[in-house]
Amino acid sequence: MRPICNDCGLQMKCKRNGHPIVITDDPEKADPYQLWMADLYQCAGCDHEVAVIGQGQIAVSNRYYDDDFAEKLESFGGADVVRVF
Ligand SMILES: [Zn+2]
Repeated sequence: MRPICNDCGLQMKCKRNGHPIVITDDPEKADPYQLWMADLYQCAGCDHEVAVIGQGQIAVSNRYYDDDFAEKLESFGGADVVRVF
């Protein structure tokens, strides 16, 4: 994975591995159903950041399959909430 900033034309650098992401399909960013660990990339030109979930990764937890989803969600406190439509 080599994210490139479309505005600056620079390859973004990894700022942090293990960036927590909460996935929801609710427009109000409620009702999460998946937890992921992403890599956070940043552009050195404009500081724009993107979170990348690598191919082949699986969710840390899924509300529909994991009994401990609520506990894991709590441990993701302060995570970015991403809406998926
Ligand atoms: Zn940029």
